[in-house]
Amino acid sequence: MKTLFTFLISFLALGLSAQELTPKEQKAIDYLRDHKEEQINFLEKTVNINSGTLNPAGVKEVGMLFKKELEDIGFETRWITMPDSLNRAGHLFAEINGGSGKTILLIGHLDTVFEEGHEFQTFERDDSIAKGPGANDMKGGNIVILYALKALAAAGALEDKNIIVAFTGDEEKPGHPLSVSRHDLVEAGKISDIALGFETASGMDYATVARRGSSGWNLEVKGKQAHSSGIFSENTGAGAIFEGARILNSFYTDVKGEELLTFNPGVILGGTEVEYNSGKSTGTAFGKTNVVASELEVYGGLRFISEEQKENARNKMREIVKNNLPGTSAEIHFSDSYPAMRPTPGNMALLETLDEVSRDLGYGEVKAFDPGRRGAADISFIAEYVDGLDGLGVMGGGAHSPSETINLETFIPLTERAALLIHRLSEK
Ligand SMILES: [Zn+2]
Repeated sequence: MKTLFTFLISFLALGLSAQELTPKEQKAIDYLRDHKEEQINFLEKTVNINSGTLNPAGVKEVGMLFKKELEDIGFETRWITMPDSLNRAGHLFAEINGGSGKTILLIGHLDTVFEEGHEFQTFERDDSIAKGPGANDMKGGNIVILYALKALAAAGALEDKNIIVAFTGDEEKPGHPLSVSRHDLVEAGKISDIALGFETASGMDYATVARRGSSGWNLEVKGKQAHSSGIFSENTGAGAIFEGARILNSFYTDVKGEELLTFNPGVILGGTEVEYNSGKSTGTAFGKTNVVASELEVYGGLRFISEEQKENARNKMREIVKNNLPGTSAEIHFSDSYPAMRPTPGNMALLETLDEVSRDLGYGEVKAFDPGRRGAADISFIAEYVDGLDGLGVMGGGAHSPSETINLETFIPLTERAALLIHRLSEK
């Protein structure tokens, strides 16, 4: 009886899910199920080409494989080079303009954190798990994009769409200035209606509607060098180290508290002589216990969910920095790197469509992932221009480490979901 009941339930579930798909959608899904091995083999091929960010030839070689595949299904492609001074390979962009529907921007990146000298270079498959540099972050994600598009092409549902594919060549270590290395991505974001990012998925049941932005700050404090016995006198003053401690403590007590705002002093140097080497993240300090410290430097980071939150925090910090102890002065400087991607209603609407697609395929609901737990990514650069959803790539573990893996069991289901998501969003 129980078996019959279970059978009936699963039969019902299958029947329901099948009903939700249109014939074109079903055709795309069938294509993916029939080409599973081919998709995994293509992943292996791209993973086995080293494409560390600082290996432009390798990044381009991987890009050329995708270029050909995209051309075969009707995309117009271009390789965008970067000025020599950036020492980056450039980006692969591809476009199809087939109608009046929404323009969808699909974002991947060709580079990995593993440079040529690294020991981790090859794809190794062990049943449903495969190890490899970039298998998860994010050659796997690029292939989700490619095969979703191939499936739509096979179903006759590609040529009437407006799609831009942007595979950057330096996501892991963007070339500077960002105004040059992210120019083409930003321009593509401005002319698109929707952006989908295929960075690592945080499970089948989550997608990313928001990512925090990141920025830097440094604090420089000066005091009067003098004999330590005078430290509480008006003439000598409190010294740079007491003043630095006051400032940091006030940051902690008065600026801390807003949701998704964090700031971290990463390194501090104080004494009568300090030197910091930002390239190596190291420094030296000299000081004596009987001498009032004249110098202090702090280098820190700040993460935020909106420009407004970032500016508010900075203003509060500036106020605290101005309020100096006797005989001291202080300055704080801020630097921008990644903007934030806020959880807008438009982003939430994209998540709703993904949730619907996932249920129709029988893969269950999809919820919003905690933005506090995701770092910045390429989609952050265009979040202010376009509705976006990220974390649509593959599942796996150990990204950026020699134990990086991809879960091959969810590789095709995630691609099926991407295909239907692109298809339905373009028709909305
Ligand atoms: Zn990545």
